[in-house]
Amino acid sequence: MVCPVPSKRALGVSYPIRAVDFFAEERLNAGKDVIRLNVGDPAKYDFKVPLHVVNAAREALKSKNFYAPSAGIDEAREAVSGYYKVPVKRVFMTIGVSEGIDTAMNALLDRGDSVFLPKPCYPLYTALCQKMEARAVFYDHDAENNWAPVLPQVKAKAIVVISPNNPTGAVYSKKMLKEMVDVAAKGKMTIIADEIYDGLVFEGSHTSLAKVVKDEVPLISLNGMSKNFFAPGWRIGWMVLKNCESSIFLKAMRNLLEADLCAPTPMQFAVKSALEGSRKHVRVAVKKLRQRRDVVWKRLNGMGLECNKPMGAFYAFSQIPTQDDESFVHDLCRKTGVLCVHGSGFGKRGFMRVVFLPKEEVLHEAMDRIERFLK
Ligand code: PLP
Repeated sequence: MVCPVPSKRALGVSYPIRAVDFFAEERLNAGKDVIRLNVGDPAKYDFKVPLHVVNAAREALKSKNFYAPSAGIDEAREAVSGYYKVPVKRVFMTIGVSEGIDTAMNALLDRGDSVFLPKPCYPLYTALCQKMEARAVFYDHDAENNWAPVLPQVKAKAIVVISPNNPTGAVYSKKMLKEMVDVAAKGKMTIIADEIYDGLVFEGSHTSLAKVVKDEVPLISLNGMSKNFFAPGWRIGWMVLKNCESSIFLKAMRNLLEADLCAPTPMQFAVKSALEGSRKHVRVAVKKLRQRRDVVWKRLNGMGLECNKPMGAFYAFSQIPTQDDESFVHDLCRKTGVLCVHGSGFGKRGFMRVVFLPKEEVLHEAMDRIERFLK
């Protein structure tokens, strides 16, 4: 029998946020519990898609089960265009923000081309570089200065900016964003702005890069329904382009989107009611998350695991007492059942990421266990 030989590219891909599930297996097989603080899925906790949005999708499921145009259905594109005040033809619906990231990077980068990524970084970006054989060049973030970006001048085709940030919870100020635009403009880079957590900000407000960029650089903004509308399983995202007028670049985008066929049609029919309807669910979520953030942030610092105060999203990124963070996280799960993701999974050794979506009592229990483990 001939066995399939995997590609080296595939073997090199890693997505540690899910891979750490393996750490929990031993405990689960022994019938013990696991507190999962590894995956940022609000729908697994007490965050529900608003009813008016569910109803729009439910109605569409009765009759809108066809392939949509690859750029998205008109109604959804128009809703995004109205929300962001951009022309409809510069809006493309995607299969989650993940397809937007994939499309933006593939449209820009050939094998060997460089892309400037944040460090620590949401691992999909590094996984895609591995798949595409593109070169990841990293810009660091200063843990001593609330995870502010540190930006040397480099040569790359694109720069990725994630604010609010996964995994650090940092939200960049307008000034920082302006500096990033200047660096991008000097290096003739296209900015890929991943703003998937822009509704979930606990202090101050979020500034969108689209508001900062004038005509200095091309900008591809990404957002969707996974975090702000608690519907990650719907797989709905969108890309909004600014200063990307070249017809050849738009053709590259269209080619890629056509090859993926389309984003899920019935769920696209819920985008209008999501963007034009009430935002009460976000206000309620931010209030709950702020309290949960405070529990985790205070308790981690209280036990000596230094952690900056997350300003947005639902992640705390804390220092741990060893550089071997993968063994630490594995041991923590084996002995206590608390499952987190090691910092090196995001390219930053000596840290771990803690999801603070569960209720406060669960978070306190998890923190108690981590504290006992450290002792
Ligand atoms: N971008 C960031 C920064 C994320 O944290 C995530 C998911 O956690 C994604 C993109 C993926 O989004 P989606 O579920 O819409 O594909």
